[in-house]
Amino acid sequence: MDDPLFTRRVSQELKLLAELKWLQFEVINLHELHVSFRGLKDSDYQDGIYHIQIVLPKEYPLKAPDIIFMNESGRFIPFKRICLNFSSFHPEAWTPSVTLSNLISALRLFMLVDAPGVGCEIKPSEIRKSLAKRSTIFYCSKCKMNHFPLKKTLVDLHK
Ligand SMILES: [Zn+2]
Repeated sequence: MDDPLFTRRVSQELKLLAELKWLQFEVINLHELHVSFRGLKDSDYQDGIYHIQIVLPKEYPLKAPDIIFMNESGRFIPFKRICLNFSSFHPEAWTPSVTLSNLISALRLFMLVDAPGVGCEIKPSEIRKSLAKRSTIFYCSKCKMNHFPLKKTLVDLHK
């Protein structure tokens, strides 16, 4: 049984995420969300749609979620928990005031910074661009998200 605070917080977060035009999500359960988001405009990722799994621990928001990329970006290794300063690898940097919306926005920006780290890879620009194009035919067998129709509907904030 989930803590009522957990349930309330996650429900609020889902409402916020639903307002964003550059992403779409599927709820597997309140502890596992899948999110597809558009890469940032004017970057190697601008034609890409990236699918991530967000795992929320039962202590969330006191404890940070885990983030795992499920398709290739040339920046994060698929199916590996990634290390960001607000992910569960760095619990000291996490604060409960960070929302999932903040987290995903920061992740998109972090894709542009070639910092090495756990779960990270640094592929050349041409490879990232070709992976971005390929990402639009991705289909997730777990949440049934299909990127092909999203190619037209997911738009960047700054367009
Ligand atoms: Zn999925």
